[in-house]
Amino acid sequence: MADVHSRAGERYANADIRAYVDQLHAGHDLPLQRAFEAPEREGMPAIQVGPSEGKLLGMLIALTGARRVVEVGTLAGYSAVRMARALPRDGRLWTIELDPKHAAVARTRLAEAGVADQAEVLQGAALEVLTRLAPEGPFDAVFIDADKGNYDRYGRWAREHLRPGGLLLGDNAYFFGRLLEDTPEAGAMRRFHEEAAQAFDTVCIPTPDGLLLGIKR
Ligand code: SAH
Ligand code: MG
Repeated sequence: MADVHSRAGERYANADIRAYVDQLHAGHDLPLQRAFEAPEREGMPAIQVGPSEGKLLGMLIALTGARRVVEVGTLAGYSAVRMARALPRDGRLWTIELDPKHAAVARTRLAEAGVADQAEVLQGAALEVLTRLAPEGPFDAVFIDADKGNYDRYGRWAREHLRPGGLLLGDNAYFFGRLLEDTPEAGAMRRFHEEAAQAFDTVCIPTPDGLLLGIKR
């Protein structure tokens, strides 16, 4: 299937085109802009989702009416602000972050965005925190965006704790272009794909690094 479609991203969407559509369709108010810039400003890795992917995450939450949402990997809270703002008033986001500094920055950004009441940053290793969080389920959506070598485990947790019809989202689904390599982490990411394809109706959206979307059967 290596036809024009598989190369369309590279061929058509250069940096200027991306900047134009990001600004037009997925622009930032001040709190979003500050959350987006926080990683660089605070000396953290700038590995947040792009503006269009962030907007898409929020739109998927809104479209599905998700009320109980889990994020694995908070960083500075950019994607968390996008999703929390898309929740209904009684909705809730739990977002999990290993690094205490990242968690602290994210709490500030979520507060400034006006969603502190709806979004809780849980600091700790995701596998442990997820186990503690399970009784709050079943959940309507799970967004996975943390350490790639554990994606298979995070995917299994999502399968167990999402309601039927619930939404699975996985960022970096192309694993930075290394998805097909013979390494343990790439293997974990392929297992994430393959197990998701069994338990969910799935598509891998061709964002710059792939966004896996699944609806639980
Ligand atoms: N979703 C964020 C980006 C997350 S970057 C956004 O788009 O704005 C990935 C984050 O996962 C980093 O902050 C990293 O510290 C965190 N992380 C890495 N391993 C983790 C683990 N085992 N448990 C929880 N968080 C982890
Ligand atoms: Mg990511």
